[in-house]
Amino acid sequence: MKFVGMFFLCAGALVFSPVFAADIAIVHAGRLLAVPGGAVTTEQSVIVRDGKVEAVMSGYVTADQAGAAADDKTTVYDLKNMFVLPGLIDGHVHITSENNPRGRLQRVEMSDADYALAGAGFARITLKAGFTTVRDVGARSRDAVFALRDGIARGDVIGPRIYASGSTISVTGGHGDGTQGYSDDIAEVLHSSGVCDGASACRKAVRDQVRRGADHIKLTATAGVLSNTSAGLEQQFFEDELKAIMDATHAMGRKATAHAHGVNGINAALRAGVDSIEHGTYLDSESIRLFKRNNAYLIPTILAGVTVAEWADDPNSFLLPPQRAKAKEVGPKMLDMARRAHEGGVSIAFGTDSGVSKHGENAREFQLLVDAGMTPMQAISAATVAGAENLGKSNVLGSIEPGKYGDLIAVEGDPLVDITQLEDVDFVMKDGVAY
Ligand SMILES: [Zn+2]
Repeated sequence: MKFVGMFFLCAGALVFSPVFAADIAIVHAGRLLAVPGGAVTTEQSVIVRDGKVEAVMSGYVTADQAGAAADDKTTVYDLKNMFVLPGLIDGHVHITSENNPRGRLQRVEMSDADYALAGAGFARITLKAGFTTVRDVGARSRDAVFALRDGIARGDVIGPRIYASGSTISVTGGHGDGTQGYSDDIAEVLHSSGVCDGASACRKAVRDQVRRGADHIKLTATAGVLSNTSAGLEQQFFEDELKAIMDATHAMGRKATAHAHGVNGINAALRAGVDSIEHGTYLDSESIRLFKRNNAYLIPTILAGVTVAEWADDPNSFLLPPQRAKAKEVGPKMLDMARRAHEGGVSIAFGTDSGVSKHGENAREFQLLVDAGMTPMQAISAATVAGAENLGKSNVLGSIEPGKYGDLIAVEGDPLVDITQLEDVDFVMKDGVAY
């Protein structure tokens, strides 16, 4: 922000009155979906002042009409031939890593700094794909993801706004315990602050994430596909542990989201008061009832299912035998699960599990949500207004309205007609800065 001194002569004295010049972005939008779920308007101007939306005005306004002063740094963006919508929110990413054949070796090779810098690369790709906000739900190095989050917030690193959970809360040997199959001495080095057994230890594990800087808590309520054990896909925490995790999370003013595939684990987590469920593969009618009772979101991550099913079918992929068996079972079920949940009236937020799939391909999830029965407008809402609500940030995210962050994207075609338009985003603005 530029500091400009203005001098006024007042009652014979020279009074120094500081005025700050503003950074103003004026976006001329041919078509504008300011609030997904609402109407598309044409020939609109979005005024972003110092990173926040100040106004949405009819017609293509000039700097003067937008209220810009001569000292303000004003930039006009001509998107008259484009479709403008809010910046996208991915509610399930692992921004500091990406699955690859060397993954198990990298766990003992990569430092926190390596993860942070790898994450900086993935963050840049993600932002360019139109995702201006992501929720990271579990990093191998919590120091790395917190440093990346803070570096982006300071403007030192280019990437989406990150909300991060730090280490995943998991039982010993469970899906979030990354030491499965390693020798004991290596396991000791790789031990995660999120691994806990018993209610008291799990309360402490939650509090320890908050102490270190977690924005929310991620727990693995059930086993998972890509952990190296043949532990099935069912519930891993006991009820008292789940209750302890939820209560400790809520007492610290955070939301808890549970990775869950098996139905007993899904329903136990919902009964314990979880705020959202990731994946949800085997959800049933009781789950749907509990989702609605809790006002909990489902993040179906269909793209993760598609990705692991592809690996399972490829004999040369790097999956270990327990992973391959689970991938074959779960992958193909996720589209139908999302359809059942949507038809049952469960609130759905957009999330991809990028890091399993490739970073930057997040928007592939849109077509899958449409395949599961959502309209393109509902799919866009899942990645904007619903994504914001899932984060508890509807006051600043999810739509282009006064007071919210200046996050918007543009595509050439109409995503309400062809949702795959969002796989090729032409313009990205975050906090009023165009990338
Ligand atoms: Zn995940």
